[in-house]
Amino acid sequence: MINDIYFDSYKEALKKRVKQSRYVHSIGVMQVSIDLAKKYGLDEKRVGLAALLHDYGKALSDEQLNEYLILNGLQIDEYIRKDMQLAHGIIGADMVTKDFCISDQEILDSIRYHTYGRSGMSMMEKIIYIADYIEPSRSYEGVEQLRKTVYEDLDRGIILSIENTVKYLEGRGFSIHPNSILLRNELLSNLMG
Ligand code: FE
Ligand code: FE
Repeated sequence: MINDIYFDSYKEALKKRVKQSRYVHSIGVMQVSIDLAKKYGLDEKRVGLAALLHDYGKALSDEQLNEYLILNGLQIDEYIRKDMQLAHGIIGADMVTKDFCISDQEILDSIRYHTYGRSGMSMMEKIIYIADYIEPSRSYEGVEQLRKTVYEDLDRGIILSIENTVKYLEGRGFSIHPNSILLRNELLSNLMG
């Protein structure tokens, strides 16, 4: 059971760490996540907490991220090495363990994998992942359709969001983290039974 007092103190801590637009985004992700938790029968407070803190590691420059990894003995793969901002999930999960003594593994994994996903995601991980793409301040072509899909079928919504991301990254010549592809393939094969 998570007390509201914790929420208030986490909000304050987040507000101090990240810029205003990131804070607004985080609150948006929290609201959508709580809504999805209700719909899919999950503990709203645990999901809300993971969502609120999902970008806790986002306020650092590439250099600071790298420094944090070294100082805290964290490992990253070659894809993250090439695009250091992808490390903000791993680092955010580590930071909330240390700053707030959070040890709920599902919350930590939801923060850790929210950017590029992974196969075998729990329901909470999926909710944080997709809420990040559809929170109210997000605006891009197709976001309305994606919002609709997520409320009809969470997995289908995630597949759609990965396909959008792949197109976006390809169009800019960026590589795609293999976790995203593995997640898409897994959800697709589940859909086809
Ligand atoms: Fe993020
Ligand atoms: Fe985010």
